[in-house]
Amino acid sequence: MAALYVVPTPLGNLADLTRRAEAVLRAVPWVAAEDTRHSAPLLKQLGAVGRTLPAHQHNEHEAAARIVDKLRAGEAVALISDAGTPGISDPGARIVAAVRAAGCKVVPLPGACAATTALSAAGLTDEHFLFYGFLPAKAGQRRQALEGLRDQRAALVFYEAPHRVLDSVGDLAEVLGDRTLVVARELTKLFENIDSLPLTAAVDWFKADANRQRGEFVLIVSGAPETADDGEGERVLKLLLADGLPVKQAAKLAAAITGAAKNALYDRALALKAERD
Ligand code: SAM
Repeated sequence: MAALYVVPTPLGNLADLTRRAEAVLRAVPWVAAEDTRHSAPLLKQLGAVGRTLPAHQHNEHEAAARIVDKLRAGEAVALISDAGTPGISDPGARIVAAVRAAGCKVVPLPGACAATTALSAAGLTDEHFLFYGFLPAKAGQRRQALEGLRDQRAALVFYEAPHRVLDSVGDLAEVLGDRTLVVARELTKLFENIDSLPLTAAVDWFKADANRQRGEFVLIVSGAPETADDGEGERVLKLLLADGLPVKQAAKLAAAITGAAKNALYDRALALKAERD
């Protein structure tokens, strides 16, 4: 049966298109694109012969119906967005849902995504991350959204537009306080930059050089700091280490006794040992 292929496209560097993505885009009779004009040069360069149909946020329902018709007629369709992975802060989810509901096959291809690309180079040791995408554009709603994330222990991953980055970073600092911010700018492009800085210093950092506000951004903020409960985990961990238990065993026992996260305790035990040695 013909399938809908969900195909990531490069964030900026054309070499990031996978060989499989290239093969699919060349082979399918239909390419559903977020912006057909934007994707035309890429498809032309690949020598893709399929026809394009628009599939953007304002026509997703109609696009889904058209795509289901094509699939039922035995014609494969590739779904692409302007850059990165469809459905990740981009249209695509409704189309995928409709295709699956119609009993047709959806084949996802792995590939470029700004969030995972930024995370891979962020160097934050948080055990988990939460992908948030775009914060609300209006200041009040943005702050409210951030209040809801304040106690989140996972690192927070945001997408942001250049004209809003300063306001958003200001609100992040005000609501979340003293954390680490990683700014991943222009990933895979000529002026790619990845910087780690204290969140509380970030507004001044952005203002210090206008270039820092240009381009495309992923902002990653380290998770909420330890709470009193984690303090109990650390207290028990220290007792066990002082009693001579090996790091791994001490972390495991302290986690079992206090309910604190084992991996975090293990990292902490390693740090305590390094301080001591
Ligand atoms: N679907 C895409 C993905 O898989 O990452 C995201 C699309 S979303 C409409 C666009 C946002 O992704 C930008 O505003 C920016 O936050 C982020 N982004 C896209 N390309 C980027 C790049 N080269 N460097 C940094 N961030 C990027």
